[in-house]
Amino acid sequence: MSHIITHILNNHCPNCHEGKVFNEKNIFFMFGFPTMNKSCSHCKFKFEKEPGFFFGAMYISYGLTVAQSIATYVIAQFFFDKTFDLRIIAIIGIVILALASLNIRLSRLIWIYIFKNYSR
Ligand SMILES: [Zn+2]
Repeated sequence: MSHIITHILNNHCPNCHEGKVFNEKNIFFMFGFPTMNKSCSHCKFKFEKEPGFFFGAMYISYGLTVAQSIATYVIAQFFFDKTFDLRIIAIIGIVILALASLNIRLSRLIWIYIFKNYSR
């Protein structure tokens, strides 16, 4: 299980773990919409199995965003006197915007890894 997480974080192809899913070298520090490879450069594994395959990745992205928002709230509340301060919402909004690009990449990688064993 831990090696799957390592492969997802390193942007590796789910089939051969050699090629890259996204063109960017580092998936963490990149702004703008990511550019995906159509297939693996090493084993020719097709990443987008059918048109609209990545619509389902939106659910993963939503889950990641909610988890990050809750984590941001838990951390931010220690810096305010009241349990619920309206400034925390602004902080959560900034964190969501800052992590949006990363969430697109992570959610698509997780989605590819979920369905990697289905017919090609
Ligand atoms: Zn591959």
